[in-house]
Amino acid sequence: MKTIIANWKMNVGVRESVALARGTLLALRGRRVIPEVVICPPFVALSEVHKVIAHSAVQIGAQNVFWEDHGAFTGEISARMLTELGVSHVIIGHSERRENLCETDEMAKKKVAQALANQMNVILCVGETAQERTAGTERERVRTQLAHALSDVRLKSHDRLLIAYEPVWAIGTGQTPDVPDVLAMHEFIRSVLSDVLPNMDASQLRVLYGGSVDGTNSYQFLREKTIDGLLVGAASVKLNQFKEIIDATSEVLDAQKSV
Ligand code: PEP
Repeated sequence: MKTIIANWKMNVGVRESVALARGTLLALRGRRVIPEVVICPPFVALSEVHKVIAHSAVQIGAQNVFWEDHGAFTGEISARMLTELGVSHVIIGHSERRENLCETDEMAKKKVAQALANQMNVILCVGETAQERTAGTERERVRTQLAHALSDVRLKSHDRLLIAYEPVWAIGTGQTPDVPDVLAMHEFIRSVLSDVLPNMDASQLRVLYGGSVDGTNSYQFLREKTIDGLLVGAASVKLNQFKEIIDATSEVLDAQKSV
């Protein structure tokens, strides 16, 4: 299976989100094997987008969640509120939130716990900055992010957690790491996951790649067995690009099916 997460960020309003959701459904129509697709619109569009995808295989995710379930937390949204809207997934620890809103690994940890307690599927983003890569500390950074965010997690099913390896320097820049570098980092991430979640078989946990994926470069990542899917930002709000990514995913899945 391959999982494609579409992070629409703050790029589309309600009307555009509904149109994009309809277009995404059309892009999936008539395929032999359908990838798992999770679309993550802005909060304000969750309800309307859920109506569009309600009777399809497409799932809906939120771009953030708060770590308490109710109370005096102006402007925040709880996991319980999200599940009420039919939201099944949530992105936690995205680098744009770490950078712009000073989100820490401790906050990510509390959000992961809250999302899992509400039966949501967590998409935990990890990745190093350009400076960390230059300094050769990328593995240290990713280990710290994983170990902290998952330190109290007791997973019952490997389906509930997806890790998105997203080098910060690759997000929205048009730059991507070489595939062997992604594969090496994915292997490292699985080794950290075996330490942090000893009751889980780390080979069964999904590890995705994210950062400047588009229609032309998606296949090189998707064809790799240990890359379980993609987290797509900018290209996910351009239907022609997103369709090319879905085409590449279908090609890989069809090939796997006929082996
Ligand atoms: C992202 O938002 O996580 C992302 C990977 O963005 P982009 O595809 O635009 O680099």
